[in-house]
Amino acid sequence: MGSLRETVRSLPKAELHRHIEGCVSTPAIIRLGRKHGLKLPSFDQAELDALVKLKAPMACLDDVLRMFAIAQSVFVSLEAVEEIVFEMLEHARLKENVVLLEARYSPDFMLRGKALDWGETLGLISRTCAAYEARHGVVCGVILIASRGYGLASAEKTVDFAVRHRRLIAGFDFADSEAAYPASLYRGLAARLRDAGIPLTVHSGEEGDYRMVEETLRELKPRRIGHGVRAADEPSGRLLEIIRSQGVTIETNPWSNYLTHAVDSIEAHPLPRFIRAGVKASIGADDPEILDTDLNKEYLLALERMGLELKDLVRVGRSAVEGSFLSADKKEEALRRMPEH
Ligand SMILES: [Zn+2]
Repeated sequence: MGSLRETVRSLPKAELHRHIEGCVSTPAIIRLGRKHGLKLPSFDQAELDALVKLKAPMACLDDVLRMFAIAQSVFVSLEAVEEIVFEMLEHARLKENVVLLEARYSPDFMLRGKALDWGETLGLISRTCAAYEARHGVVCGVILIASRGYGLASAEKTVDFAVRHRRLIAGFDFADSEAAYPASLYRGLAARLRDAGIPLTVHSGEEGDYRMVEETLRELKPRRIGHGVRAADEPSGRLLEIIRSQGVTIETNPWSNYLTHAVDSIEAHPLPRFIRAGVKASIGADDPEILDTDLNKEYLLALERMGLELKDLVRVGRSAVEGSFLSADKKEEALRRMPEH
């Protein structure tokens, strides 16, 4: 048992789906809360843990949103943002052996109600990642998110911002509220991103049904799908064949899907079916601090409860690198550090 854990921990990994806002540890919340004189519901680690970590499948979405609100409240200064991003990178490298990391955030969510400038904050996050990469060899990139729940004007503002800062980002994502804000609303924005040469991933098929994934592929033509769970429900297998033949990568997040009821159990997660269908699939932790997970836990779940083998996880890791939005030379560098089979 101990040795399987160590095998998993030491396996070089690539992470494509990690939200910076979901990477704020409880000690960081307390530390930054004290430093900036913030009003937190508690400054006791055990008490605060209970308020910011989802330990069992959620009772209602509002509970999770409250957890995110506490984590979001500490993004109050550039120093705070830098500390959080640095801690995220340290965890990924030292505890999970991540060699390629794409970190994403929604500027309108992270910085809502704050005095921070979007451009300065992105510049700082980008510099922090670049410096870390130069020093420690973890290749990294930043994905900007439009939070659909904030409405179309917010998405337009975020796409404008992304196009203006094209050089600093690896890609773009439309996240959350897919049922209320269907893909067709974003067709024009997706085309703008394509014209600007910005690769797109879309949170799709986490809720609703498989038709949403079909609509996302048709309307937005993303290179990757976040979650994509519902794609496996399409009965004929045609949708998975489309995903496979288009070379679209599905960024799976198994523990997240279990906690939000996208799957009833880890055993029922469609990752093994994606792999059997020849679809390129990655494994991500989504919001590791809030969901109390990381890639070690996700990989162990895949081995112990989904019936996958180590060679499948090696393939998942290589698929993640191949589906990454980073430059070809950075991907080469990451692939060189990963096992071949
Ligand atoms: Zn996500």
